[in-house]
Amino acid sequence: ILILGIETSCDETAASVVENGMLIRSNVVASQIKSHKRFGGVVPEIASRHHVEQITLVCEAALEEAHVTWEEIDGIAVTEGPGLVGALLVGISAAKTLAFAHSLPLIPVNHMAGHIYANRFIKEFTFPLVSLVVSGGHTEIIHMPEHGRFELIGETRDDAAGEAFDKVARVLGLPYPGGPEIDRLAREKEEPSPLNFPRAWLEEGSYDFSFSGLKSAVINAVHNAEQKGEHLDQADVAASFQESVIEVLVTKTMGAVQQYQAKQLLVAGGVAANGGLRHAITKAAEEAGIELVIPPIQLCTDNAAMIAAAGTIDYLQGKRANMGLNAQPGLELVNI
Ligand code: ATP
Ligand code: MG
Ligand code: FE
Repeated sequence: ILILGIETSCDETAASVVENGMLIRSNVVASQIKSHKRFGGVVPEIASRHHVEQITLVCEAALEEAHVTWEEIDGIAVTEGPGLVGALLVGISAAKTLAFAHSLPLIPVNHMAGHIYANRFIKEFTFPLVSLVVSGGHTEIIHMPEHGRFELIGETRDDAAGEAFDKVARVLGLPYPGGPEIDRLAREKEEPSPLNFPRAWLEEGSYDFSFSGLKSAVINAVHNAEQKGEHLDQADVAASFQESVIEVLVTKTMGAVQQYQAKQLLVAGGVAANGGLRHAITKAAEEAGIELVIPPIQLCTDNAAMIAAAGTIDYLQGKRANMGLNAQPGLELVNI
C-alpha cells in the first residue's frame, strides 16, 4: 500500500510517500522557521501564505523522490486537525483536489496520531502501549490497546511542554523556536544545576501536567536577579528548567506504563527531540525493563511521513472523508 501524506497544520509544508505504513519512500519538509523567527513565533497568516506557495511543489517532490506515479498511489492522507485553521485548509484543499483529480480515497488524519505513528518507522507496535506525546501544543499520556485506538490518560492543564520551552527561551532572549536552544544550553552544563525550580506533581495518582507555575518561577527568578543588578547564567536557568520538566514527564509516564501494563513505551512530538528527555527516559525504561521507542529527531517534529503512517491504519480500517472535509483546529485524540 502506498499512501501520500500531506501535513500543513503549523509552520512546515510537508508531503511524503509511505509504503505499508512502515517504510518511508520520500519525506519532503519545507520549513518556514526563518520567516517566523523575526516575530518570535508562528504568525498564522504568514504560515498560510507560505503553505499556498509551497504545497504543489512539495507534493510533486514527494512523488518524484519516491519514484512513484499517481497510478501507484492508493490513497491520500491529510491532517484535518488540530492546528491553525488557515494552515490546515491549505493542505486539505490540496488533498481534496489531488484525490478528485486522480480518483483516490481521501483519508483524514489526526496530527497527534501522526506524531505517535512516527514511531512505527522504527519499530512495529506491541500492544497495549503507552505513548508520551510532548509537542508545541500538546502534552499527553495516551494508552493504545490496539492500532487506531487512543485513550487519553493525562494531559496538561495549562501550557504544553514545548510551549513552556519556547516561553522560557524567550525570557532568556533566545531565538524561536526555543526548545532546541534550551536543549543546547542545558547540554553545556556538566554539574547538576544550582537553581531548584518547582515540580508540579498535582494530586496523587494524577497523570495530568501543569507547566505554567514552573514558567512563572523561571520568569520571576530571572526578573528578581535583574532587579538586583545581577545576571543569572543562561545555561543554569536552561538546565534547571529542563530538569524540572523532564523529571515530571518521565515519572508520570513510567507510572502509566506500570498501571497499564504496557508492553511498549513510545515518545512522540517535537519535544521528544530533547537530548535530556531522551537520556532520562531511556534510563528509566531500562530500569523498568520496558521496550522504548523514540523517533530520530527529524521525525519528532512535524512531517508528513507520520501522517501517511497513521493514515495507512485509517485506510486499512476503512476511514474515508468526502469532499466536504473541513479543518478541525481543536480536534482531540480520544476515541475510547
Ligand atoms: P502540535 O504537534 O501540538 O500541534 P507543533 O506541531 O507546533 O504542535 P511540534 O512540531 O511537534 O509542535 O514540536 C515543536 C515544539 O517542539 C516546539 O515547541 C519546539 O520548541 C519543541 N522542540 C523542538 N526541538 C526541541 C528540543 N530539542 N528540546 C525541547 N523542545 C524542542
Ligand atoms: Mg513546527
Ligand atoms: Fe506537531
